[in-house]
This record gives sequence, structure tokens and C-alpha cells, in this order.
Amino acid sequence: MAGTDIFHPDFKPMPYWWEAYQPTAQDPLDLPARVRVAIVGGGYGGLSTALEAAKQGAECVVLEAAELGFGASTRNGGAVSGGVNIGKSFSGKGLAVDPTRAEAMLADGSDAFGLIERLIAEEDIQCHWQKAGRFVGAWTPAHYAGQVKRLALLNGAARSGAYMVSRERQREEMASDYYYGGMVVERAASLHPALYYKGLLDACRRRGIPVCARAAVTRISRESNSWLVQTARGAVRAAEVVIATNGYTGTITPELRRRVVPLASHIIATEALPPDLAASLIPKQRTLSDTRRVLCYYRMSPDGRRVIFGGRARFTQVSPQTSAPILHRFMTERFPQLRGTRITHAWTGNVAFTLDALPHMGQQDGMHYLLGCNGSGVAMMTYLGWQTARKITGVTNQACAFDSEDFPTHPLYSGNPWFLPVMGGWYRFRDSLDRGIAALGA
Ligand SMILES: Cc1cc2nc3c(=O)[nH]c(=O)nc-3n(C[C@H](O)[C@H](O)[C@H](O)COP(=O)(O)OP(=O)(O)OC[C@H]3O[C@@H](n4cnc5c(N)ncnc54)[C@H](O)[C@@H]3O)c2cc1C
Repeated sequence: MAGTDIFHPDFKPMPYWWEAYQPTAQDPLDLPARVRVAIVGGGYGGLSTALEAAKQGAECVVLEAAELGFGASTRNGGAVSGGVNIGKSFSGKGLAVDPTRAEAMLADGSDAFGLIERLIAEEDIQCHWQKAGRFVGAWTPAHYAGQVKRLALLNGAARSGAYMVSRERQREEMASDYYYGGMVVERAASLHPALYYKGLLDACRRRGIPVCARAAVTRISRESNSWLVQTARGAVRAAEVVIATNGYTGTITPELRRRVVPLASHIIATEALPPDLAASLIPKQRTLSDTRRVLCYYRMSPDGRRVIFGGRARFTQVSPQTSAPILHRFMTERFPQLRGTRITHAWTGNVAFTLDALPHMGQQDGMHYLLGCNGSGVAMMTYLGWQTARKITGVTNQACAFDSEDFPTHPLYSGNPWFLPVMGGWYRFRDSLDRGIAALGA
């Protein structure tokens, strides 16, 4: 199956998740004149900040440029992890940060997983939360060896419950021999990203927090002892401002924009599969990803009938006509049994990478920020929002390990990622080379 044949007659160029919750402006609420905390960006990070700030008695407003849930928070793969992706930065050529801080970050990663689980239960969010673990396939034998080295760190500070699965036993995890074995992370989960988003939104509403759609912030300026936040729908005065714009960070915060690289990630959803085939692909209902530089991530839909398959088909925004055939090929390389399967949905969204591959929270020019999910932000951005709110309201008794003044930038980068297509091509070439060398040695 090739070209346009892969598209189902009912194909829609929108997230599969939007069948359950579609971002909407709803009743675009009036902006309050003055609040304690004005939050820019209405994704998981912004809503989580607002929710915790309100719980601690701070009046706040969430200002969202588009519809509610327009950003990555209703577009992602819905894989939830504690520390496994943070740990990536500390492997390979040794620890990129000092071991004590690395441990503290992994402990925070683990707390992020605990927080999202607690929040979903406390707020009774019906989002198909399933704690079935993750399998990370090794792209080469060397990557497998690298995973072995990371186990101790993950099982220590991040309490990941991680263990290795050899290539011979890989079919216990997936109906494919594609990888050189891999690592299982038991403390990982999946959810329906748009329903999780809707649950956070409902929780904000129950507390009377104004979450204002189509209120793009156009300017933020200091006025004696408060901030003046100007939006497309009027101005708000606030004692504190929080920037939670992640992969959509724009020119209103140039110092932050030059610290995050917005990268596109793309996903397809297949048509509903025959039940036996669907049940056989990922028998333990885990989420899957791999150790490639240009990684793929995939899972079954919450009803267990479709494959949701994502990856960096391109590093920039492209049409589904471009991204879907690439992802379909990646999917069938892993699962040849899906060759005749058509795609019903294809979509894209922005993630925010940072130059040290770590998430960040802190203050810049007096404004708070939480940015840099590096592709794994369902739990992490929820957590950094919660941490930021607790810091602002003064109830935290321990600094978050991601709260640091050291948020790197580069003199040649001002926020325009012109180099992404070249970088994507180079990373894909390196992946192919590694795999080719591994095949020669096999
Ligand atoms: C395709 C894809 C797959 C992913 N898969 C996973 C996964 O499986 N697991 C995982 O953990 N993470 C995943 N992620 C990452 C995860 O979705 C993000 O980390 C998370 O949603 C970020 O939340 P956020 O609130 O920080 O940002 P967003 O949800 O992106 O929200 C930022 C918002 O800021 C708004 N904004 C920007 N500028 C302004 C302005 N001037 N005024 C007002 N509002 C503004 C934008 O409109 C946007 O809605 C994925 C991301 C993508 C795109």
C-alpha cells in the first residue's frame, strides 16, 4: 500500500483525540481587570498552574491565544512517564549534569508521575488512565548496552521499576522482531490526552478560574509594582506573570524564545483493526518508543482497536499528505502485518526542546516560566505548573530540581529554527548508519 491508498475514505487531518474533545473557544469569558497571577498559555502547564494557585487561595486568569486546548496538550501521544526521558540526558557519554542534581531531577520526574496520578483521581478525570508500563526498543546492540547502564539510575532516584528484555523475549512485548531487545519501565502509563485536558479545564471551572480563549497576549510590561498584560481582548493587571507557552513561545518573550527550539511531532491513527490483530500487536497494552535519535512512539488507542503512531517524520510542520506516508512506512517496518491498514487521522503539534535537553522553570526578567518538555510533557508540564504555583504562593518547602537560573542559550540562535530540516536529515542519516553497522555485526 503506498501513496494516497493509505488514506481511509473518512480520513480527517485532525487529532484522533478531538473526536472526544475538540478545542473550542466556548463562551469566551470576559477578562478580569486585576488578578494575583496571570498565566499565558492554556495547555496542561497553564491549567495546572492555575488550579494549584487557586487551591492555595490566589486569584488567577489563564490567557490562551487560540481555542482551549489548541496546543500540544490535546495533540500528544498520551504516554506518561516519570523519569525515563529525563534519564536520557544523563546517559551516553556520562552525566551531563552533576550526579546529585541528576538524582534530584529524576526524583522530581518520579514525583511528576505521582502528581498526575493523584490529580486524575482527586479531580475524577475520566481520561482512560492505564498504568501498563512502557517498552523502549533498542535500535542497536550498543543502545541496548546503554539502556543496561541507565537501569540503576532509573530504579534508584526515579523508582521506575525498569528491567531489560532480551531480543529473544521481545515478542512478549510486541508482535515484532524489529528491535535488539529493550527496556521495560513498569512505572509508566497512558491516557487520552484531550480528555485529560478537558478534565483539567473542568477542574479549573469548578473553582471559578477564568480560562479565556482567543486572548492572545500581545505585550507584557512592568507598571510600578504590578504587570500590565495586554491581550487581543483587553488588558489585565497582575502581581505575577507565568509564561506557559512551551512549543508555541513567541516574540512577546524574546529572551525565552531564544531558549526553546520548537520542533514538530507528527502522529497518525489507523482505522479500527480486526480484534484479533489489534489484541496481538502490543499484548501488555504498554506504550512503546525507541532509542533512535529521531524516535518513534506508539500505542493502542484507549479502546484497544487502533494504532496511534507518532514520530518526527519531519522536524517542521508539514501537511498530513507528507507526514502520514512516512509514519505509515515507519509503522509497517515495525509491524509488517499492518501493511494493508489505512489511516483515518493524521496531525501535528509543536514540542519545545532546550539546549540542555532538560525541562526548566524559573524566572526571567521578573516573569515566571515553565518551558521545555523535550517531547515528554504530559506529566512534566503538569508538575512544573504545580511547582510554579506553589512557589508563587509560598507553600513549597523544597526547591524543584528544574528550578534553576541556568537556562542555556546560544549566541547564534534567536528563536528562528531555520536549521531544523538540516538537523533532521543529519539525525536520520546517523540513525540509519548506526542501524546498518549493527546489521553488519549481527
Ligand atoms: C505530536 C506530539 C506528541 C507528543 N507526545 C507526548 C507523549 O506521548 N507523552 C508526553 O509526555 N508528551 C508528549 N508530547 C509533549 C506534550 O504534549 C507537551 O509537553 C505538553 O502538552 C505541553 O503542555 P504546555 O501546557 O506546556 O504547552 P501547550 O499545550 O503546547 O500549550 C501552550 C499554549 O500556549 C498558547 N500561547 C502561545 N503564545 C501565546 C500568547 N502570546 N498568548 C496566549 N497564549 C499563547 C498556545 O496557543 C498553546 O495553546 C507530545 C507533543 C506533541 C506535539
